[in-house]
Parts: sequence; structure tokens; C-alpha cells
Amino acid sequence: MSKLLLVSCCAPCSCAVIAKLAEEKRNFAVLFYNPNIQPAEEYEKRRQENERFCQERNVPFISLEYDPENWLQAVKGFENEPERGERCSVCFHLRLKRAMEYAKENGFDAVSSVLGVSRYKDMAQVNRAAQKASEETGVFYDETNWRKGGLEQQRQQLVKETGMYAQDYFGCPFSVRTPSSICGKSRLSKSI
Ligand code: SF4
Repeated sequence: MSKLLLVSCCAPCSCAVIAKLAEEKRNFAVLFYNPNIQPAEEYEKRRQENERFCQERNVPFISLEYDPENWLQAVKGFENEPERGERCSVCFHLRLKRAMEYAKENGFDAVSSVLGVSRYKDMAQVNRAAQKASEETGVFYDETNWRKGGLEQQRQQLVKETGMYAQDYFGCPFSVRTPSSICGKSRLSKSI
């Protein structure tokens, strides 16, 4: 069975996919590499919540370095880009490429991600960034649409049922500033 590395941004976005893959007894691990999340306290909250969800299901959880300075350097000049603009493309590419490098060094056959599961994200944009990283690293990217097959509803349900920590902004300092990009708890309860 091929070994999959699932890139996660947070527990609310990844929970239904993790639950599904665990139920199917798939050979997979969850990777958390999110230097876009700032400040550090917020990063730690999301990391711990994601780790807890995985531990409860005996799913391996890999947490890579937290290097926000590297991320800030990469998106320099794109600070004022709108949501779904160039800053987000750079952000997706940086995180997915790092994940693919890890996958290559650690015997994974493919990488997939939940970075586009929120309906406030552009899945095609995530896939484009992933394909670019895939060409650069030689690691296969699995473009499964994790919104489908009832996973969206299951995600909403799991967030409510487990009372998991659900943030009120995407993660980076620039998304906090842009009201249109805030997926607050009231909106979150409707659709994360
Ligand atoms: S809004 Fe989200 S995808 Fe866009 S740069 Fe910020 S953290 Fe990255």
C-alpha cells in the first residue's frame, strides 16, 4: 500500500480526512508545517489541537520547524495582495515544497493536502502551487478533492461534536487585517 503524507493547516480543516483515512486503515501520516501562522501562541494552539486529534486515532503526526521569518521573507512585497492573490500562491508553494522535500527524504510515495478544503480557499490555486512544487521535487501530488463525498458535512459535524479549537482567521498577519478573509467562528459554524 502506498504511503501518503497529508499536509494539514489545522484540525478543523483536516479532521474529516484524517478520520476517513484512519477508518480505511490507510498508510499515512499528517504533516504540520505552517510558518504562516502567527503569532507563535496561535501557531502552538493549532498545532496542539491537530496533534491531539491525530493521537486520539493513533495517526502519526509530524511537526516540522516553525520558521515564520523564512515565510515573511518569501511573501515580502505581496503583503497587500488580496485573499487568493499572489501572496497565497507563494505561501502554498513554500509549505507544499517543504512537505514534499520531507516526503522524499522519509519514504513517502505521495503528498496530498487539505490547504484548499475551506470554501474560502481556491482549490485550483492550491493545486497549481502543488504541481509546481511537484515538478521541482519529483514527488507525486495527489489532487483528491477532500470537500467531496460528504466530507464537508462530516467536518462541520466533527468540529461541533468534539468542541475542537476553531480559529477566527486564516493564519497569517495579513489575513487578520483583511475583513473579507476572516473565517470567524460564526462563519466557521456555517462553513469553515
Ligand atoms: S491568507 Fe492564508 S494562504 Fe494566503 S498568505 Fe495568508 S496564510 Fe497563506
